[in-house]
Amino acid sequence: MHEKGASCSGCGASYGLERPMFRCPGCGGSLEIEFDYPKLRKAAPRFRERPFGHARYAELYPVRELVSLGEGGTPLIRSRNLERELGLGFGLWFKLESQNPTGSFKDRGSSVEVAKALESRPGKGRVRAVVASTGNMGASLAAYSAVAGVSCTVLVPSDARAVKLMQIAAYGSRVVRIPGDYTQAARKAEEASGRGAWLFGDYLFRREGTKSVGLEIADMMEPDDVVCPVGNGTLISAVWKAFNEWKALGLSRSLPRMSGMQASGCSPVARAFRTGTPLAPMRGRTIAVAIECGAPLDGSRALSAVRSSGGFAADVTDREILRARQLLARREGIFAEPGGATAMAGIMRNRERFARGSRVVCIVTGHGLKEPRTPVPCRAA
Ligand SMILES: [Zn+2]
Repeated sequence: MHEKGASCSGCGASYGLERPMFRCPGCGGSLEIEFDYPKLRKAAPRFRERPFGHARYAELYPVRELVSLGEGGTPLIRSRNLERELGLGFGLWFKLESQNPTGSFKDRGSSVEVAKALESRPGKGRVRAVVASTGNMGASLAAYSAVAGVSCTVLVPSDARAVKLMQIAAYGSRVVRIPGDYTQAARKAEEASGRGAWLFGDYLFRREGTKSVGLEIADMMEPDDVVCPVGNGTLISAVWKAFNEWKALGLSRSLPRMSGMQASGCSPVARAFRTGTPLAPMRGRTIAVAIECGAPLDGSRALSAVRSSGGFAADVTDREILRARQLLARREGIFAEPGGATAMAGIMRNRERFARGSRVVCIVTGHGLKEPRTPVPCRAA
């Protein structure tokens, strides 16, 4: 175990990890785990002796043993058609997170979160857990809870897609619809955790598992830019942490620019970036329900990743998202859900912001089969 403690993004306070915490007890801010990097440098050469995948980077997770369903090790493939057909002028790679066990990148975080819940259980009783989710995280935690014997309840917002709820129920978790949006569901989940349930979600342990998206990219190439969709902001801040850790371990010399794409209907991070103001919550709707988070838990970390890496945050309309989704499917053979096509939509809209000849990685976060019935409003190119 190489983790030293947790620090708060809001007030900068530091905490030990003896008792589980989800937010800063002082200010309610988001917590992040810090590792002993000089000590970890000794473990780093062992990474590449192991199979490529999430478990390769075991020392970089704050658990003794992962709960695994074979997550990670997803393909990083170069565009075969769109890079040329759109005349982008830079190299475009897709990180296909849709190929994880439950169809989204959430499985990486679940493998760490569920392991942590098992390690922290008081006595030997069955762990009861609760999570708020627009669908993908709930489906992922339902699968990992099933294999680990955790009793999981998933609170979903009123507009959650029926097909996603079917996936959650198939793994045996309980689904409860909360009147309102994701932010209200997240509040309910935190209240339930105050009554003794273990809290899953975009908190400090999940971010550590999600890092492996970035670790795997860094392991294969040194990109100039990495582009992520942004909902709660956990993915982009986890990928940024991963690249920084990879560098701290002496495994690379450069860091990529991190850019975050949101749906115009719900874009607090993009708005804060554009106006140079602090993050302010907003209420809004988008067809990309997987990233519909009006009060993003890791919004300030996402902004900080974008600003300190020299990247940018921007938003794209639902129509642009659906067009990117269609092009990915028809020209690259990649079927993404709307949230999963948002980074590509942002790259298309902001192509002049990427340097000619640079290497850009686009993260495709969730499989199209999760929302196969989303309307297709535009004709193919
Ligand atoms: Zn704090």
